[in-house]
Amino acid sequence: MALLFEKTPLSIELAARYGYDEWLVGRFLQYVPDVTTFMAKMEQPPTQYLRVNTIKTGREELATRLAAKGFELAATPIPEVMAVKKAPMSAGATVEYMLGHYYIQDLSSCMAVEALDVREGQSVLDMAAAPGGKTTFMAQRMNNTGSIVALEPSERRARSMEFNMARLGVCNTCICTVDGLQAPELGEFDRVLLDAPCSCEGVIARDPSRKTSHLPADVDYCAALQGRLVEAAVNAAKPGGLIVYSTCSFAPEENEAIVDGMVRRFGVEVEEPFAHGSRGVESFGRMEFSGAVRNARRFYPHLHDTTGFFIARMRKRK
Ligand code: SAM
Repeated sequence: MALLFEKTPLSIELAARYGYDEWLVGRFLQYVPDVTTFMAKMEQPPTQYLRVNTIKTGREELATRLAAKGFELAATPIPEVMAVKKAPMSAGATVEYMLGHYYIQDLSSCMAVEALDVREGQSVLDMAAAPGGKTTFMAQRMNNTGSIVALEPSERRARSMEFNMARLGVCNTCICTVDGLQAPELGEFDRVLLDAPCSCEGVIARDPSRKTSHLPADVDYCAALQGRLVEAAVNAAKPGGLIVYSTCSFAPEENEAIVDGMVRRFGVEVEEPFAHGSRGVESFGRMEFSGAVRNARRFYPHLHDTTGFFIARMRKRK
């Protein structure tokens, strides 16, 4: 069951000031560093990021074209990703966007692909793929070689992904409208990405309705599905292969608890993917996790200027 904590004067005051359900703030107070700054930051529009599509253009070429239109862009820790500092028009309304020269994608979402370390010629399974932000980034990192099997059970979302793939010129990917739970029936893959369906707490800055639209039971529902999907992800990876598990939720039940289950049941090794982000939490209320989950990464709006995100890179035993 999702953990709930006793109301405190601070949880009541912050919930009232920013319009959240109190139970959510009570939980943030247990593990988010500097909650007051965190909640103030989530009132501000999140920084927008553009990911250069190197299948179609180069970073400098795109930067030059957008600068001529009045955009001001800044570098980020991922070479293909630029932060939008000034935009004279919607970033989704330029010719370059229509031509597929870039994709609008949060830096934290791109970090999940960075963590998976895909290479040319590999076989990759993307278990929850639409609308395809991470799939298309993987395709460009693989130079459109190898193969990506992208699973998405929603036909509507799969169609929007088809459109994105065509716009971006991706041709090493097939989309299957298949449930991720069926992944082990599809074979064994060098790399498996599970960007899991989640409670989406991390996107509150973009969608404030999330402050009050979910219940503790929704966290439980997501965690139960995530536990089944991540087991399928591990089973679909080759021995020694990499699995990246990510969510846009802050909830430890959807993050460290899921990874902890894979460490205990399958002996996966949790590797440090990179130095960016904060470490995973080792405990939450009465929940205690394996020390290995510290190697996972958390992204917070007030600390990393991204939407909220969690990334764990796991290596399957040989
Ligand atoms: N990876 C995507 C990207 O970067 O653009 C975002 C994926 S979104 C967080 C989660 C996706 O999982 C949704 O498109 C949802 O329809 C899909 N989904 C829900 N249940 C699923 C299941 N049982 N198996 C696979 N995908 C599922």
